[in-house]
Amino acid sequence: MTSQGNDEAQWHDDTRAEELKERLAAVHHRIEAATKEAGRAEAPRLIVVTKFHPADDVRRLAALGITDVGENRDQEAASKAAELSGLDIRWHFIGQLQSNKAKSVAKYASSVQSIDRPQVVDALAKAIAREQDATGRDDLDCYIQVSLDNDAGAHRGGAAPSAVGELAARIESSAGLRLSGLMAVAPLGADPEAAFAKLAGISADLRVDYPAATGISAGMSQDLEAAVKFGATHLRIGSDILGSRPAVG
Ligand SMILES: *Cc1c(COP(=O)(O)O)cnc(C)c1O
Repeated sequence: MTSQGNDEAQWHDDTRAEELKERLAAVHHRIEAATKEAGRAEAPRLIVVTKFHPADDVRRLAALGITDVGENRDQEAASKAAELSGLDIRWHFIGQLQSNKAKSVAKYASSVQSIDRPQVVDALAKAIAREQDATGRDDLDCYIQVSLDNDAGAHRGGAAPSAVGELAARIESSAGLRLSGLMAVAPLGADPEAAFAKLAGISADLRVDYPAATGISAGMSQDLEAAVKFGATHLRIGSDILGSRPAVG
């Protein structure tokens, strides 16, 4: 294989591409089955989470028709997005976001799904305004990450459900930010159906005031069926497509 990577066809031929193709087909199959089971007309949109996996895997996925990719660390996402700027890919930022990274994220992200506090809204608004002046980029799709943990410990991240209204108002009043909906991760060791049912309820409440905020980003490799059942519009699937990641250190 050449190191140039100009020939798109090469990403169809290698064994890794074959492996990704098979795993992706299996996940699509699960999504279709769950969609049918839930009596839904349309399947949710698939975001493939490529964190810890190389840019070449994103290239292979793009050759397989993937257009939406999720990353959770700015440094890694920024470098992949720069390397793959010629591809038609939407980058979704799904990790904990420090305010000082907003400027970088504004350069490549189509959505930020992990908005959990007012400072992050303000930092993104400022960064997007600057980026729109410079490049005319689109508005940023914003998802409020909601904690579905029962205790206040919130170890899987996100704002308390009671904080969603205030965050939504802040996003809506910021030029350049578009309130898309909610994102959540099911609590560890709990029933994902109960968690996603709760999320659906919080989404219904949100849509009373913000009818356009219809997005529900929920469902990972382990629990995508439960997410489809409870109305997810976006699934974020990593390991079942890409294989296991190195442990987070
Ligand atoms: C890593 C990650 C995913 C993907 O999880 P898998 O179990 O690998 O499918 C989804 N959402 C978030 C927020 C993540 O950090």
